[in-house]
Amino acid sequence: MSRIKENTGFVCENCGRGVLPASNGSYRNHCPFCLFSKHIDILPGDRGEKCGGLMKPVGLKYKSGKGFQIVHKCLKCDTERVNRIAKLSVQPDDIEELLKLFRL
Ligand SMILES: [Zn+2]
Ligand SMILES: [Zn+2]
Repeated sequence: MSRIKENTGFVCENCGRGVLPASNGSYRNHCPFCLFSKHIDILPGDRGEKCGGLMKPVGLKYKSGKGFQIVHKCLKCDTERVNRIAKLSVQPDDIEELLKLFRL
C-alpha cells in the first residue's frame, strides 16, 4: 500500500477500528466510532503538529452556519480543538457517541 499523506484512512488508536477516508472531500480527523481524534495538525490536514497525543471528545458546540462541532481535548498537552461533525460520509459519526457528549 502506498503512503499518501492526505485524506487516507487510518486505524483509531483509541478503539482500534479501521476508519475510512471521508467521501465528500472534507478532511476526516476523528474516529466515527468513539469520536477520538489525534493531535497531529496545526491547521486542519497539515500534519504539522508534533504532539501526536490522543484527543478526547469533551463536548459539543453549535455554530450558526457551520452546525454542530465536536470539542476535542488533547490528553497529552491539553490543547482544545473544535472539529466539524462528519455527516455526509461513508462512515458518519456515531450518533450515540455524539449524544453522550451532551451528558458529560
Ligand atoms: Zn475510535
Ligand atoms: Zn497535544
